Amino acid sequence: MSVLDQDDCLNHVRIVLVGAQHPGNVGGTARAMKVMGLSDLCLVAPKRALNDVATARASGAKDVLANARTTATLAEAVADCTLVIGTSARERRTAWPRDDPRQAAERLVSTASCAPVAVVFGCERSGLDNACLDMCQRHLRIPTNPDYGSLNLSAAVQVVAYELRMSALQPTYDESPTPRRSATNAEMEGLFWHLESTLRAAGFFKPSRSGALMRRLRRLFYRAAPDTAEVNLLRGGLRALSEAARGRDS
Ligand code: SAH
Repeated sequence: MSVLDQDDCLNHVRIVLVGAQHPGNVGGTARAMKVMGLSDLCLVAPKRALNDVATARASGAKDVLANARTTATLAEAVADCTLVIGTSARERRTAWPRDDPRQAAERLVSTASCAPVAVVFGCERSGLDNACLDMCQRHLRIPTNPDYGSLNLSAAVQVVAYELRMSALQPTYDESPTPRRSATNAEMEGLFWHLESTLRAAGFFKPSRSGALMRRLRRLFYRAAPDTAEVNLLRGGLRALSEAARGRDS
């Protein structure tokens, strides 16, 4: 793949802001993106409408702001993505696979050559909640001063966008055939819904434990990164098991 092709990949990396509170930070994000060659911005349920402050902070990146898509949920924002990485300033208790910005950027740029990918950022006050982090295959934490680890939202986007650009500028000499395309986020969410409802109907979950168990199952399936055909095979198997159980009950 040539350097130019790699640079084109940046157009397939979506920056998603969940519940952004300050329009100024959204403008700052647009600018941070455009200077690094990113253009796909999606706002999930922003707390306030874009205003003059947003436009002023975007400076020469008003086009990125104008083209930003708004969705009600994170699921809609990343439905077509085959890799979704969530960012968090906090150390989490769950052992979710974690990357620093450089590792994440390499992964995102190489996957973006065949499908859209996303990096998800949380709101200024509280960051991403667990439900959003559960929808991300991996977590990204920018290494910081342990005593003061939370960057301003648009500054965090800038660090990640810079690493994406650096990664895109690396020439690659990979002669392997087209990389395998994993299932999209929407297909994976369909699988998790199906798995959870089948296991629940079979009485496998104690209601209080279902959250923790589903999180472990999510981790397992994210690690396996199945493709669309494999997800459909699993769902076909789940359907057959449910029908067999219904047959036994009737
Ligand atoms: N008070 C929040 C921090 C919000 S900062 C908290 O404790 O989680 C707003 C967003 O910027 C975060 O949700 C995250 O997306 C990003 N961010 C800030 N600092 C970061 C860091 N050190 N590593 C990764 N993302 C960070």
